[in-house]
Amino acid sequence: MDSSDDEGEEYLFKVVIIGDSAVGKSNLLSRYARNEFNMHSKATIGVEFQTQSMDIDGKEVKAQIWDTAGQERFRAVTSAYYRGAVGALIVYDITRRTTFDSVGRWLDELKTHSDTTVARMLVGNKCDLDNIRDVSVEEGKSLAEAEGLFFIETSALDSTNVRRAFEIVIREIYSNVSRKVL
Ligand code: GDP
Ligand code: MG
Repeated sequence: MDSSDDEGEEYLFKVVIIGDSAVGKSNLLSRYARNEFNMHSKATIGVEFQTQSMDIDGKEVKAQIWDTAGQERFRAVTSAYYRGAVGALIVYDITRRTTFDSVGRWLDELKTHSDTTVARMLVGNKCDLDNIRDVSVEEGKSLAEAEGLFFIETSALDSTNVRRAFEIVIREIYSNVSRKVL
């Protein structure tokens, strides 16, 4: 049929989620991929990923989103985890400043392991806990500006901005790729 020209135009992008332990990485992914939240989630060992599809310009774009699944507790996120990643969410917990202080280290690690342009989003998670906030929105914004990252605050608990966080990254990857093709 006349749409056969478009066949084979498939996109599959690898996106990694990084950041200190207990900032909400696994819950952001489960909220996005399955609309689930777990108040007592435990860090399991081993790497897991979920594949999510979205529509961009009428094309099906798939993102394979990887979760460290507890490796980060031992500062032992392997290079295999980063291999081939073209997008990253760097997550901190707005109620724990130490997790914000670690962002630089995560960015360095990402840089060390990637040999391509990576669409990067700084994510301040747990914004539902504004009453015990330890990192201001302005601090998040200015770090993101200084490092050339997108920035968003999210709540995996009440769903605020979770979809948006992933989709902005996936759209940016898509536009990086289409720019290359053109
Ligand atoms: P990870 O170690 O970074 O994967 O973090 P988890 O997703 O396992 O979450 C760690 C803890 O924080 C769990 O008890 C979650 O229920 C809680 N948590 C995760 N996201 C949020 C959030 O947006 N708001 C609140 N209030 N708690 C959250
Ligand atoms: Mg986890």
